[in-house]
Amino acid sequence: MNKKIKISLVNHFCFIIAYYMVKIAIKIEKARIKKIKIENQYFVVKKSKPKDIIIRCTESRLSKIFIMWMKENVEIKGSPYLIYIPGSVHDVVNGLFFIRIYWWYRIFTFAEKKNINKIAICNHEDCLIYGNETKEKQINDMRIVKAILNHIYKKLLIDIVFADLINKEEEKFDFRIIN
Ligand SMILES: [Zn+2]
Repeated sequence: MNKKIKISLVNHFCFIIAYYMVKIAIKIEKARIKKIKIENQYFVVKKSKPKDIIIRCTESRLSKIFIMWMKENVEIKGSPYLIYIPGSVHDVVNGLFFIRIYWWYRIFTFAEKKNINKIAICNHEDCLIYGNETKEKQINDMRIVKAILNHIYKKLLIDIVFADLINKEEEKFDFRIIN
């Protein structure tokens, strides 16, 4: 972990609030579920226990491609949990204080599930939310989120993926894994 990221951890301390909020919420929810009795079940769905989480932008151009690419290149197995955030981690890092707590809360809700093995964070060039910000800024934001997640979940694998726009007219994107 480099020095720059260590400073960011302090700057982004709101993740700690969100983390403990999730911990408390899980305890409350467990107690509540015990009291609920389901009388009718209208839908039967396949039982799935996702092992991976993908955090990505809501961008529609890349919705299917992102997941297809991830499955082939970063070993995402089965059906992952999908966390859609406009601008990927933009608001997790740059949002107003309570917005940041909200998104961390959402991420921890999934990360606290059992059997989670990997979190893949991805974003893309030409992102509406980032506007004129540089690719480096986007990649650095993903690195901050990775550092925080690594800080809490030592064993979890975290991958960062970035999609470069290589041809704007043809809307051609190329993906790469960021270290
Ligand atoms: Zn985007």
